[in-house]
Amino acid sequence: MTRASGIRNHLLATLRPAHLDLLAPGLETVSLDQDDVLARAGEVSEHLIFPHSGAISLMIDMANGQTVATAIVGREGAVGSISVLGRSPSAITAIVRAAGTASRIAAPRFNAAFSRSPAIRHAIQIHLNATLTQFQLSAACNALHPVEARMARWLLHLRDRIDHDVLPLTQETLSQILGVRRTTVTLVMRNLRASGAIRSERRGQIEIDRSGLAAAACECHDSIRLEVEGIFSTKTAPISLSGCCE
Ligand SMILES: [Zn+2]
Repeated sequence: MTRASGIRNHLLATLRPAHLDLLAPGLETVSLDQDDVLARAGEVSEHLIFPHSGAISLMIDMANGQTVATAIVGREGAVGSISVLGRSPSAITAIVRAAGTASRIAAPRFNAAFSRSPAIRHAIQIHLNATLTQFQLSAACNALHPVEARMARWLLHLRDRIDHDVLPLTQETLSQILGVRRTTVTLVMRNLRASGAIRSERRGQIEIDRSGLAAAACECHDSIRLEVEGIFSTKTAPISLSGCCE
């Protein structure tokens, strides 16, 4: 990976060259393919992954096989950063929902740079703060808001990361993200299509109307976006979840 090609990941982009150079020898560019599992609950994550594009959902797996999403990570964040707190099994499963590219580094190499660089520690602190905020607001949303509003929220989070109105999602994937039955997804999808918030859905692609979807979503989409952007803007150069750092 070369800096000259442009780092689109916001965390890496905040680092001055002297600090980024501590990571550079260990960074490799990888593709994020749809449905790739980047971390699995109960297993120790061997790498940190800094997306430049695409979107990854962080999932909780219940004992009965049900799943629910707690956060979406794109170019503003990282997967596996919890390893800086110590080597322990992951609590979440991380699955690529929209393909893209990322920089990947082995956890021991990252942690060595983390211990040497205040700037890297600062970037990770900001990221963990933003991620915890997203977890907390998602927990409240999952408990308190109706499934139609939640589906609209997750579709908007995904839209923010990929900058495109056609989202690579199946109803099965949405049932995993929302923690509801597939038949519920079908019913909610029908309602959102009737209102115009979803324009079409076929062959694993959902075309949305962003403003229509914003009207259908609970306030949590804006709350999470503004909270996360606020965390970054008070501690680093401002970012936008829906725009690149460049
Ligand atoms: Zn909500």
